[in-house]
Amino acid sequence: MLTIGCHLSISRGFRAIAETAASIGANTFQFFSRNPRGGAVRRMDPDDIAAFHAYAAEHGIGTVLAHAPYTLNPCSPKPKVREFARTCLSEDLLRLEATPHQLYNFHPGSHVGQGVEQGIQMIADALNEVLVPEQTTTVLLETMAGKGTEIGGTFEELRAIIDRVELSDHVGVCLDTCHVWDAGYDVADAFEGVLEHFDAVIGLERLHAVHLNDSLNPLGSHKDRHARLGEGAIGFDALVQVVRHPMLRDLPFILETPNGLPGYADEIRRVREAVSR
Ligand code: FE
Ligand code: FE
Ligand code: ZN
Repeated sequence: MLTIGCHLSISRGFRAIAETAASIGANTFQFFSRNPRGGAVRRMDPDDIAAFHAYAAEHGIGTVLAHAPYTLNPCSPKPKVREFARTCLSEDLLRLEATPHQLYNFHPGSHVGQGVEQGIQMIADALNEVLVPEQTTTVLLETMAGKGTEIGGTFEELRAIIDRVELSDHVGVCLDTCHVWDAGYDVADAFEGVLEHFDAVIGLERLHAVHLNDSLNPLGSHKDRHARLGEGAIGFDALVQVVRHPMLRDLPFILETPNGLPGYADEIRRVREAVSR
């Protein structure tokens, strides 16, 4: 059974988000671990978590992804920003143990002129500070478009971070199809080669989730503007090939396309239909 869902707002709690997911044909979802622009922390209500677990089990919702705020930057040149990133990462990871064995995705960061090497080191330093041996959450580095001074626009940069993390068993990668396309990896016409490269550099066993998005911009544009599936430069058929790939088809696929709920329901239905053909 294909695991597919989309990014959803968690403002009404976990049980409510699972209901919303089920109502649009999703059996996974992604949510922001906290306010994406600021730092406000949501309280974990034990009753809501229990209700979520019961509902999720009943409706076949397995793996879910938490997404860290966009403002998180563990390799900022500003000490205060780095400090916020570490606090945020460690608080989020602690709270996520209420829903054990799930995934926590974050954008590795932007070095803002300090250089790639320094950025990679600072990201690894932050992870070495916040990861603990007993955690059940797997932390995912998201593949990035390489916009500005973003780290993670190449598989090699992600590998270099992982290599410097002591508890690297707790670290994996989330592949965003829009981002890798914008970074210059041709997922439309050479997906097999992109996966082989990923496997050689990072290892496919590190790949835990896919963000399934089309891109408004051409290959290698380094832009990061998501499009609905089939309304961008990658195209619907190419994205379906990604979902159908034997090495990927057991992973959770998360849509982060510009859609409301009806649009997401339609996209999920179309992908399920195309994959089952
Ligand atoms: Fe993201
Ligand atoms: Fe993404
Ligand atoms: Zn993006």
